[in-house]
Amino acid sequence: MITRFAPSPTGPLHLGHAYSAILAHDSARTAGGRFLLRIEDIDRSRARPEWEAQIYDDLAWLGLSWEQPVMRQSDRLPVYRAALQSLWDRGLIFACQCSRRDILSAASAPNEGEPLMGPDGVIYPGTCRHRDCTSGAMPEGEALRLNMRMALAGQDAIRFTETGAGPMGETGEITLPLAALIEGIGDVVLSRRDMGTSYHLSVVLDDAEQGVTQVTRGQDLFEATAIHVVLQRHLGLPTPTYHHHRLIRDEAGKRLAKRDDARAIATYRAEGATPDDIRRMVGL
Ligand code: GLU
Repeated sequence: MITRFAPSPTGPLHLGHAYSAILAHDSARTAGGRFLLRIEDIDRSRARPEWEAQIYDDLAWLGLSWEQPVMRQSDRLPVYRAALQSLWDRGLIFACQCSRRDILSAASAPNEGEPLMGPDGVIYPGTCRHRDCTSGAMPEGEALRLNMRMALAGQDAIRFTETGAGPMGETGEITLPLAALIEGIGDVVLSRRDMGTSYHLSVVLDDAEQGVTQVTRGQDLFEATAIHVVLQRHLGLPTPTYHHHRLIRDEAGKRLAKRDDARAIATYRAEGATPDDIRRMVGL
């Protein structure tokens, strides 16, 4: 078994990260497998070297060890570009010039109430899909979206194996009807204007490159898994097993966020907590 922990160096690791990292690490160790680390630093406006340094420090303090070298997404932009080019050449992605406001107003048809939300926010209403913008060279500096209908053509359903559970208790062999993806997810962005890639595209390429066989991550990413399986099919990549775990919440039941410095591992360390205390706090 090959597992991984893939933090973004955009803030301190908190209890939720510790839970995810320990879970992935321990399941690899129990299975006699490998535990890998990946730094998800494609968001250059938010990623900071000091957060990355703090991640290594906190994980080592927790007693985790991982293989070297550590993969960093910022080193892999040409790989992401090549994958986009291959999707572009097959007409599976299209350029999108819509602003957030354009999307919101097109998605909020009069008298229809609130626009539908997917894993990435408002479901794209399709405006640029209808423009003839798939011919010619792949544009630079524009958002590129997956044409979900086209990507699902000829398939009967999207399937993956879940060894943890989704937010509604979904577990085992998951089968998602195509309508759930077309209506509930839609044409997600695969390359952001400011990044040249996206979380979805990078995570799929990187998990495959690292040979990850079990993706361990929070339940908040369960819905996004369908996008990842679609991309794996089109990029000729294997689909790993997924293990989505419960989220660590604060006393009010709210899930912890990056800015939740009060629950940062570094704060607990400074207050004298031990790694075993952290394990106990997250219920391990
Ligand atoms: N980088 C993501 C995060 O920190 C995790 C992505 C994943 O595990 O697939 O939330």
